[in-house]
Amino acid sequence: MSHNEFTAALGEVTSHLADRYNSLGSCAPVPPRSDIDSALAALPSTLPADGLGVTDTIQHLIDDITPGLLQGHAGSRFFGLVTGGVTPASQLADILGSSSHPYTYSRIWLNPGKDASVAVALEQRALDMVLDLLDIPRETFGGGSVTTGATASNIMGLACARDALLLKSPHLPPNYNITENGFPPPVSAGAPAINVITVKAHGSILKAAAVTGIGRANVHDLPSAQPGPEDPWGLGLDIEKLEEQLRRAEEMGQGVIVVVTLGEVNTGGFTPHIRTISDLCKRHHAWLHIDAAFGGFAALLPRYTYLSGEMALADSLTLDAHKWLNVPYDAAMFYTRHSSDLQRTFGPSPRLGTPAYLQVHTAPASPTEVSPNVLALREWHASLPSPLNCGIENSRRFRALPLYAGLMEQGKAGYAGWMSNPSHGGQWYTVVNADPTDSVPLNIILFRAKVNTPFPPSDATATPRLLHAINSQRLIYVTATSWEGVGALRIAVSNWRTGLEGARDFEAVVEALSGAMRA
Ligand SMILES: *Cc1c(COP(=O)(O)O)cnc(C)c1O
Repeated sequence: MSHNEFTAALGEVTSHLADRYNSLGSCAPVPPRSDIDSALAALPSTLPADGLGVTDTIQHLIDDITPGLLQGHAGSRFFGLVTGGVTPASQLADILGSSSHPYTYSRIWLNPGKDASVAVALEQRALDMVLDLLDIPRETFGGGSVTTGATASNIMGLACARDALLLKSPHLPPNYNITENGFPPPVSAGAPAINVITVKAHGSILKAAAVTGIGRANVHDLPSAQPGPEDPWGLGLDIEKLEEQLRRAEEMGQGVIVVVTLGEVNTGGFTPHIRTISDLCKRHHAWLHIDAAFGGFAALLPRYTYLSGEMALADSLTLDAHKWLNVPYDAAMFYTRHSSDLQRTFGPSPRLGTPAYLQVHTAPASPTEVSPNVLALREWHASLPSPLNCGIENSRRFRALPLYAGLMEQGKAGYAGWMSNPSHGGQWYTVVNADPTDSVPLNIILFRAKVNTPFPPSDATATPRLLHAINSQRLIYVTATSWEGVGALRIAVSNWRTGLEGARDFEAVVEALSGAMRA
């Protein structure tokens, strides 16, 4: 392949991206069925015997495949899940980042044990700046990692918690290390070594319990007996029961992980009384994991600045980058109090040490003159742990780069500016997650059709029919869920573009919701 061919194909890619960026405002939020059918038909049934080469492959992707992908999902009227969009600088940084080689191994080539690249330092700075954004003192969390998503961060949280808790188990030899010796037996019949206590946790907590060997059956929902005005969405933990369970578990020598959510996926609501929960966890040596995947960023809104202090109480903290921060998929953050928590679980075996092929080979430093500033930066950089020992993957892409770019592009004011708090009611619809003052907690409107419509909540088919009636107009895109056993739909506003063009997006929502009633 000639350089010219590469440059020409790159031009095709960049002009495709520019066209897409410029047409996002008018693009349907999801492609029509026929575009997906055409893309399906274009997939070759077998590997081509001779490769198409760069020009034809890129042309195939642009002409045949991309129309069948989610084109408008990064636009202002995609309200599904909490997917977020992409800010321009973070999108471009993602392209730059994926165009360079995998970087996690950069630490091993070095000259005097330092790095062959600035990547590790940049990742640490990005992690620090996310804490700055949320007004959480950097020294709160000594360990951190940029992960693939809040699911990975939750898996890391439960894994770090499991290992730290078992170190202190009275039933096991001192400093029992599960990562060396495997999961221990139950502390007594029917009493597992680790329990998780939570309320309305995200589904990924169950996945984390499965992956870490804790077991899904050992995740217990402990809702408040009575949701009150302070907790209109029933996200509160029953504090009295929690205290009793923590006390009993401690007496039995069981470890407990308490998981609370900031930004529950259906309502956007928060678990209240996190300070009390944290005090109880400290008193009874339980681990507090806060899953603040998208809701943690509400700390930027004047109404929710108190969340910063709550997040700082976590033993481990999950935050997503690819949702409300509008960093391209996939990116999230994980924080824990001590870097040693990460090393214990994700670092090399203390018994076997680092595999020989991954060891850092130091050479004597050549005596070059550098300023004290440069020396201090080098020392800081060299003191950072290798990403190999701080996360699930060994090799990984440079996903800190788009995060860093988003933070540099937006600054605190940029993010705070567009994370406002929209809400919408209507003659045909009931807003399910409105509190007594008629506002929703965050950026999610959970709603269902009223009784006297073609989609009464008592009808089990109402939710899928309404979902189809709304989305098939391709004006907006929403997703379905159920809340307290009854079907509901969600509009989650998490894209920096939404509302930029006056009332246009709001009118599209009104049009789609009223169009569904006429259909
Ligand atoms: C989205 C979400 C998750 C899972 O995040 P992914 O980034 O999809 O892995 C976990 N917890 C909460 C509260 C979430 O909103």
